Amino acid sequence: MAKIYTDNEVSLDPLKGKRIAVVGYGIQGRAQALNLRDSGLDVIVGARKGSSYDLAKREGFDVFPIGEAVSRADVILYLLPDMVQPEVWGEVERNLRDGSTLDFAHGFTIHYGLIRPKETVDIVMVAPKAPGAAVREEFLRGRGVPALVAVHRDATGEAKARALALAKGIGATRAGVIETTFKEETETDLIGEQLVLVGGLMELITKGWETLVEMGYQPEVAYFEALNEAKLIMDLIWRYGMKGMLERVSVTARYGGLTVGNKVIDEEVKRKMRTYAERVVSGEFTKEWLKFYKEGNIEELMKRIGEHKIEETGRKIREIIFREP
Ligand code: NDP
Ligand code: MG
Ligand code: MG
Repeated sequence: MAKIYTDNEVSLDPLKGKRIAVVGYGIQGRAQALNLRDSGLDVIVGARKGSSYDLAKREGFDVFPIGEAVSRADVILYLLPDMVQPEVWGEVERNLRDGSTLDFAHGFTIHYGLIRPKETVDIVMVAPKAPGAAVREEFLRGRGVPALVAVHRDATGEAKARALALAKGIGATRAGVIETTFKEETETDLIGEQLVLVGGLMELITKGWETLVEMGYQPEVAYFEALNEAKLIMDLIWRYGMKGMLERVSVTARYGGLTVGNKVIDEEVKRKMRTYAERVVSGEFTKEWLKFYKEGNIEELMKRIGEHKIEETGRKIREIIFREP
């Protein structure tokens, strides 16, 4: 059983008297900067001139060019998009002080060797296991989202204590923090988003919807069935577990789910999951993605799903469901 750190076991003291620079004021950067400041810590922001620079200013931060923010800080949260991190790294590296702590929200660039920080700085990770918006929203509700922490290099002797303090500062210890490695976090994150979260759910829902529509049922009815209710079932699983969910649906749904689900999502599907998971571990996926990032067009890939009929139906239904009262 993994050790789970909770709020009262972790202290903010390792960050007291230290200046934290949050580099990048995007989805994670904004949420983490605001939470750390609300936790009473000294936070500045590093950003290029532009919309997130202006937003950070409006939200009351001292904002500096990235290099300058790094040079002014003891702890640097490197929260640029993963594929941008190597491009901006030169500016960070030139300004990194010995004995500082470099923190990531995902292990990607370190694990795959796209960034190689000098020996005199700590390399740590606090990876929230939730989208950035939830990091802020849960914090404001007095709760937090779970996170993983890891120490890749301890140059100061304080790396783990600082990482845990950061996790507390963003509210993660309220929900539970597990220690991991950069390798485990990076690989499980990529495998999880491909097989289950982003890829798996999207295709499961879409193919379920297509099946219903191809059988002649109304697209709107199929949408409620395959997509809208998926959220409600997921909420039950999230809150009560698999068995708890089964106990809360009709007995017919319970029987049908238990006897048919595993025939559709069968061992063959699992074998394919394993194949694609192994591509992450071997680095093959990352090689492909780095090449695509340089030469391909992600907007083009989005078209297949963006122009799918389920989206047309969805827009119509969401307009009604989410209409302001
Ligand atoms: P975002 O895409 O939200 O980051 C956008 C920020 O990066 C903006 O401030 C943007 O500035 C800045 N930026 C982009 N390109 C450049 C550039 N070339 N030079 C300078 N600044 C630039 O990133 P995320 O928050 O999604 O990701 C940050 C890290 O967090 C990643 O490691 C990611 O894996 C991790 N993570 C993200 C999660 C999420 O929910 N998104 C969840 C868990 C981890 P501008 O406004 O000027 O463009
Ligand atoms: Mg990810
Ligand atoms: Mg993730």
